[in-house]
Amino acid sequence: MFLFKILLLFLIFINSNFLLSVDERLNNIRFSDNHLNKSFRVVLDLTHKAAYTVFSLNNNPRLVVDIETKSNIKKFQNDSAFIKSIRTSIADQNVMRIVFDLKSKFYIDKHFYLKKNENNIFRLVIDLRKKENLNIQKKNIKPKSKTKFIVTIDAGHGGIDPGAINLGKKEKNITLKAAKELRMMLKNKGFKVFLTRNDDTFISLRQRRNIAKKNKSDLFISLHVDSLKKKTTRGTSIYTLSEKASDRITAKLAERENKVDLIAGVNLQDVDNEVASILLDLNRRDTKNSSSLFAESYVNITRKNGHRLLRGPHRHAGFAVLKSTDIPSVLIELGFLSNVSDVKLLTKKKSRTRLLTSLAEAIELFAKKRSNSN
Ligand SMILES: [Zn+2]
Repeated sequence: MFLFKILLLFLIFINSNFLLSVDERLNNIRFSDNHLNKSFRVVLDLTHKAAYTVFSLNNNPRLVVDIETKSNIKKFQNDSAFIKSIRTSIADQNVMRIVFDLKSKFYIDKHFYLKKNENNIFRLVIDLRKKENLNIQKKNIKPKSKTKFIVTIDAGHGGIDPGAINLGKKEKNITLKAAKELRMMLKNKGFKVFLTRNDDTFISLRQRRNIAKKNKSDLFISLHVDSLKKKTTRGTSIYTLSEKASDRITAKLAERENKVDLIAGVNLQDVDNEVASILLDLNRRDTKNSSSLFAESYVNITRKNGHRLLRGPHRHAGFAVLKSTDIPSVLIELGFLSNVSDVKLLTKKKSRTRLLTSLAEAIELFAKKRSNSN
């Protein structure tokens, strides 16, 4: 181990990019096996929160991690009984590919970053589980009663964060009312529904995502009401996550919606970095497609039902609340508090529920498509 450390120091030292690399190193890879559960954990110790992609391959079972790092270490110690060997290569200028040859087929159960530890080290955790008799399990599961489609509805803002305010109306109150009404509609359709908040309390954007995850949601819908200086702009619109905003107005909107955590003193560090690394993720790509499909369906149905839509109603930007890697997530602006007609539409129960009925219709269609493809 001591020799290894010396070698490590030496390798870092001879690296001509020393000054560049010193801040962005992969220091170590650690393993912990769980023989009972036939699972194991890989932990990458990093000096930075690196963008990464992780996937597994079934023939010649392998786990592949592409990670943005300037590290020069090529050999890592293999302490896992489930791994045959570890290989590294430089895939791109600053991207290291690490291939773990596995002794049998494993699937990636989950992967995530742990917060910086006391030594300022970020830990990327990848949990793997052995693939066994998946077909038999599936057969056993199928005849059981069909599991319900789970929706988490997120009423935007709340508590000390009122959201947009205009004409004496607060965004946080409209979104809560709408969320409760939508919950009722979806329950009547036989869905399982959760709300991120049930009353006027502040919840951070990360907490909202965590609630959706905890509830094993199939879909996450964040409800908002926008406000602009231009009083004539009106209509509903829907947003999905992307690193680059579709347009300047949407970029500003994402900025406004992301800022709410600052109001309550939540640390928003690295939000942009996180969005970048999440989008690199393969799981996320699938989720992103599903989110977009839902958004398109919302646009089609609201248009068909005669609701007013914002021009270019499906847009995208780096909304923090939409960052779940495995839950299709959308943010809906029901309308504009800055527009008198929209305020009327959203504060009168009858017209508000008409719009929500269209949203419920889009959710139902999405759920149907999902269950057909499974
Ligand atoms: Zn909002």
